[in-house]
Amino acid sequence: MLTTTRVDNAYDVALENFDTAADALGLNNDIRVMIKYPERILTVTVPVRMDDGHIHRFEAYRVQHSMVRGPAKGGVRYHPQVTLDEVKALATWMTWKCAVVNIPFGGAKGGVTCDPKHMSQGELERMTRRYTSAILPLIGPDQDIPAPDVYTNSQTMAWIMDTYSMTKGYPIPGVVTGKPISLGGSLGRSEATGRGVFNTIECACEHLRRQLKDTTVAVQGFGNAGSVAAQLLHEAGAKVVSVSDSTGCIYNRNGLNIPEVMHMKFLTGHVYGFPESEPISPAEQLALECEILVPAALENIIHAENATSVRARIIAEAANGPLTPAADRILEGKGVFIIPDILCNAGGVTVSYFEWVQDEQHLFWDAQDVYNRLERVMKTAFRDVLKIRDEHKVPMRIAANMLGVGRVAEAVQIRGIYP
Ligand code: NAD
Repeated sequence: MLTTTRVDNAYDVALENFDTAADALGLNNDIRVMIKYPERILTVTVPVRMDDGHIHRFEAYRVQHSMVRGPAKGGVRYHPQVTLDEVKALATWMTWKCAVVNIPFGGAKGGVTCDPKHMSQGELERMTRRYTSAILPLIGPDQDIPAPDVYTNSQTMAWIMDTYSMTKGYPIPGVVTGKPISLGGSLGRSEATGRGVFNTIECACEHLRRQLKDTTVAVQGFGNAGSVAAQLLHEAGAKVVSVSDSTGCIYNRNGLNIPEVMHMKFLTGHVYGFPESEPISPAEQLALECEILVPAALENIIHAENATSVRARIIAEAANGPLTPAADRILEGKGVFIIPDILCNAGGVTVSYFEWVQDEQHLFWDAQDVYNRLERVMKTAFRDVLKIRDEHKVPMRIAANMLGVGRVAEAVQIRGIYP
């Protein structure tokens, strides 16, 4: 099992990101207090009868950071290190992310502190259903729409959708996104985050006048976001020299055969031990001589202590919050081009929005239609962020936050204050 140094409090980082953007935008204090903090925070106890008969209590959360621009939107994370502060940070980032890609949603996030790798399917189902019923007053297709995040998936969404629908008495597929296709899911949703990451890397390469096919890539985290990004980069001719998951990192200087790594991951649940590769340590992976580094696991992976060893030219933040502010400053100083999380991984929520639209209309699009619309949204957002970066001479992260925070500030100003 790999250890992760999670040094900074993610919520402090989210607040710092906000303050920096708000300062750069010159937002007055009245606007700041209305949009900075979560609108609603719910902490719940989730008792679950485990397979051996005893009842285990899980602590769980749903945080709605903002509903200024539309219903709250955000994933549900199952992980042993989930804390309320982490969920607050992730909900905050969702607000700015939805605004960056200009979709009519606010931000939310949910989490259950649990170790899903050591739970049976039955335990996971009972926990998911009880969690859903505990947060039921907050969620709904016009209020707050959960989606998958770390260690949750389309099956988790199906359980949430079923629990919610049974309570209301009729099917309500629009209560979650990232559902199975047979329940009203969207084609292209499962690969949307990785595809969006790929679209923004294409933009960055074009901006930096680099040919994608001449690049080498390392991907940390080989789950939903990381594996799809690796696959698309591989298909585009980039050499993916290293990938990792929580069991270990693998390396092949000539490039890994990503479809075969994916196949092995599917069969065994891990990438470690892939035949045409050698094992390397997590620290070695982050320090690899490669053009593009894609952190696609958890927060605070790159921090003050290891940022100086990073040699990549582009960092594409598939994960939320993988760089601490200290790492950010070090890497900016080294001239690394950072595609910030709220831009880079916004493909997931964008296709979640497409799924919600299709559910509301009961009219479904083909996969190519979804990909084309996604690419348009991602490339427009990239251009919008780059424009702010150039106009204000700020780093990409501040530019992205300025775009997101600025759009929410504009909306709250027009809505005014109730009562
Ligand atoms: P996932 O559960 O599908 O995959 C997570 C991967 O990270 C797994 O392969 C796991 O083994 C690996 N991992 C965990 N700890 C690790 C470590 N210390 N070192 C290396 N690998 C490690 O989750 P996901 O949905 O791919 O989410 C990954 C990141 O992307 C998260 O930060 C999430 O918030 C973000 N994200 C996901 C989506 C989405 O639609 N799934 C959307 C936006 C952002």
